[in-house]
Amino acid sequence: MRCKAALMTRMSPDYHDVVIEEVEVAEPKDDEVQLKVMTCTICHSDIHALTGEHGEYEGPGMAGHEIAGIVTKVGSKVTYVKEGDRVICSEVRQGCGQCTPCLKGHSWECEAHPSTSALFRIPGCHTRLNGERIIQTCSGTSGFAEYCNAHESMLCKLDDDIPFEIGSALACGFMSGFGAVLNRCKVKPGESFAVCGCGGVGLSAIQGAAYSGACPIIAIDTVPGKLEAAKKFGATHCLNPKECDVIEETKKITGLGVDHSLVAVAGKGLKKQMIDLTAPWGQMVVVGHGHPRDEVCSDITYMNFLRGKRLTGCVMGGVNLRLDIPKYMEMYRLGKIDIDSLLTHRFTLDQIVEALDDSCHGALKNVVYIGAPVPKTLAERP
Ligand SMILES: [Zn+2]
Ligand SMILES: [Zn+2]
Repeated sequence: MRCKAALMTRMSPDYHDVVIEEVEVAEPKDDEVQLKVMTCTICHSDIHALTGEHGEYEGPGMAGHEIAGIVTKVGSKVTYVKEGDRVICSEVRQGCGQCTPCLKGHSWECEAHPSTSALFRIPGCHTRLNGERIIQTCSGTSGFAEYCNAHESMLCKLDDDIPFEIGSALACGFMSGFGAVLNRCKVKPGESFAVCGCGGVGLSAIQGAAYSGACPIIAIDTVPGKLEAAKKFGATHCLNPKECDVIEETKKITGLGVDHSLVAVAGKGLKKQMIDLTAPWGQMVVVGHGHPRDEVCSDITYMNFLRGKRLTGCVMGGVNLRLDIPKYMEMYRLGKIDIDSLLTHRFTLDQIVEALDDSCHGALKNVVYIGAPVPKTLAERP
């Protein structure tokens, strides 16, 4: 069948080259479902992926990996969902629960996942009308389209009372920040925390730090509006590298540096800075990433490590999809976490370039409404 989609006809360093056109969607395979995409929120990874910063691709490319929608078709081997179910579709996959990585709690590394699941640039379910197969620039699916296919393992059911746009935000941005603090940093009450980059991921990390009882919580960003938002989500101190020496300021606040630092943006120089403001026994967690071939950072000194400093990474918050998403939905329902304030503006698929542009100019997280019109009020959200 055919549907409308937003794609890059060729890899380009400029996301303004994204076009809207009609494409063909393949029938779902045995272990896949087809989704009517209701909302897709924009993550900076979508922009990095489309422009080739997360790796080059040949031919046309499509992004969109924070998907919430309705199941419209199921493959013959699908057992988890049925037609009509509301779902979140995420790059994190549910594991089999039986293999060694799953038993160790690392379902992302499940041995039963399709061999392509770790590959980010693979031909997907969409084809241009001229016959060109479109590359999925984010792992596993492409949500900047009215319909998309996804492997069953990428789905988590979305409760009826949780709006699709909240499901979309949970699918990557929120879990990548909040999950990293709970599952990887494992922040304890009273420990100090700093985050570099206060977009959707960074602000979710601040929520995670506040939820865990961290104090102080230091937010670092060059955009004043994002630092304002950081305060709302629980930051106790806000530092703008354009206005101060963040290493010096952090040490004034904490003494030797922070117990936990989290990097929610790409960029080598920033990572070096974050290592330097982490306490000798502290840990730095890298969430934001660049090109797969890039080194994480250079010139880490021997003393950084001999004094016990730890450097690690965390992909997609280290969450277990169908265990953690239901918890986050309940926390949202009870007002324990704030997703609504993360969502800045709402756009239609036809306005995708405007939406990407706004995401690059201070918006926290933008929503693209695809399967439903943009709601006029929060109460009207589908
Ligand atoms: Zn993302
Ligand atoms: Zn497994």
